[in-house]
Amino acid sequence: MKYGISILALGTCLVLAACGPNAKEDKSVTNNAPDLCIQNAIIYSANGNVQADVLTVNDGIITFANLPKNTSNCSQYESTTTKIVDLQGAYLYPGFVDSHAHLLGIGLREMTLNLEGTASIKTMLEAVAAEVAKTPKGETVYGRGWIETHWPEERFPSRQDLDAVSPDNPVLLQRADGHAMVVNSAALKAANITKGTKPPFGGDILHDDDDLPTGMLIDHAMNLIKDLMPTLTSARKEAAYIKASEVYAAYGWTGIQSMSVDANDIGLIERLSDEGKLKIRVYNAVDMQDAEDLVKNIAANGPQTSKNGRITTRGLKFYIDGALGSRGAALLAPYEDDPENTGLFLVKKEYIMPIFEQSLRDGIQISTHAIGDRANQLMLDWYEEAFAAVPESERKIAKPRWRNEHSQILDLADIPRYSDLGVIASMQPSHAIGDLYFANKRIGKDRLAGGYAWRSLIDSGAIIAGGSDAPVERGDPRIEFYAAVARKSLDGYSDENWFANEKVTRVEALKMFTEWAAYAAFEEGVAGKIEPGMRADFTVFDKDIMTIPEADILKVEPVMTIVDGEIIYKK
Ligand SMILES: [Zn+2]
Repeated sequence: MKYGISILALGTCLVLAACGPNAKEDKSVTNNAPDLCIQNAIIYSANGNVQADVLTVNDGIITFANLPKNTSNCSQYESTTTKIVDLQGAYLYPGFVDSHAHLLGIGLREMTLNLEGTASIKTMLEAVAAEVAKTPKGETVYGRGWIETHWPEERFPSRQDLDAVSPDNPVLLQRADGHAMVVNSAALKAANITKGTKPPFGGDILHDDDDLPTGMLIDHAMNLIKDLMPTLTSARKEAAYIKASEVYAAYGWTGIQSMSVDANDIGLIERLSDEGKLKIRVYNAVDMQDAEDLVKNIAANGPQTSKNGRITTRGLKFYIDGALGSRGAALLAPYEDDPENTGLFLVKKEYIMPIFEQSLRDGIQISTHAIGDRANQLMLDWYEEAFAAVPESERKIAKPRWRNEHSQILDLADIPRYSDLGVIASMQPSHAIGDLYFANKRIGKDRLAGGYAWRSLIDSGAIIAGGSDAPVERGDPRIEFYAAVARKSLDGYSDENWFANEKVTRVEALKMFTEWAAYAAFEEGVAGKIEPGMRADFTVFDKDIMTIPEADILKVEPVMTIVDGEIIYKK
């Protein structure tokens, strides 16, 4: 919080125009001219009130937002150095933050065979055939983004499907959720996966009636073919991070809480940001592997930040189970459509508890992926056990704000535990409107009463940080906001299994992506609201998402994205 308080103090100092010794580098004090003045905008605070039509920014901090709304403009600064932006009646919100997504994956999706939105096995094979035609013989073809839940074929793709269009090149196609992959026979052969190959812990190799691999590899079984994956050179990573930041700024996101980041990439992300190549704000939760030095540094010095302050790293990310679509989510009772199966566990308690306890002592924020009701219950149990083992007096941060990433299917009795334990529910509204088509088949209506339970969680006092999980989903704030308030498919479908009562109000949806996202990153003192002293991070849409008809939310245009008072995207 040290960083946050100093920024806040700086903002207050600018507002009062009484900065003392440093006044020389502070233009607002000497000539009263801010760096930026925005006029002719309808400006929303996070609590959903229109509060201003003009605001000013200095050194990346909001210095003035007229309150209450009284028509004024930037004309007094016309003859100064101030940059004046006329938003021509557009709607300005606190910067939208995607509280759970994967920055590298978002960039890589733009750079590889993108199977997002593929409508059938047939169309997927056409896309693969076109890619194989441009790929040298023997080289791997890698794609990502398919999801079979709407396909007319009503089944997973198989190696035989892929063999028909690629007999020689290994083909690896990752499901949109990242928890499963279909590969062809050339890939199975190259990885030496045969009839008798045993799946590793936390993974599964699906077999057909003849007991031969179908080509579907679930969760940790994907490790068996990792040598065939395209190598991630540092140049490729750099290009992907930059691309992802551009794509995200154009959608209107000012920030991302990036999950499962490779600890070895933190230096690169910080450098790209300090060099001005990666513009959005990034809050990292890293994978445990190779994170030892980083963890030691955070334990000794607090969260690690880039020089420009836009990149912050303070946490670790873990997985407890798989995903619902690929039946890897860990359930209290078997799957409705697979009575022998209760899902997969990806981590063992004896491994993770010492890490949890040490993290409390070190001030590390823990984020854990949990989808199934059993996984969510265990995660809450384990957090609770760690909290009991390390009392507040022994913790570096008394209220550690640990997070449950996804919190998808909850046993109803577990809902109040979020608020009781101070655990943040990090949830992705688009998952609900994608999954609710098939979730009933997987787990039945009774268990869906605790599925994607936004309303119940908020009513119980829990904080929900809203995200997209891109590249699992598209990563579009309009889709996430719409899904949260409508709880209908993009074309307006829902039925009684969708539990419409669990949708949220527009004010709550706005908070999920602004104020509550800030809270989940310990930033509520500096971000998530529009008022003097807060960071000048803004999302601007051409229409008012707080009042227009539900279906129109999907059609608004992002017109400008601003971070630290810098315009990072303009339509
Ligand atoms: Zn994720």
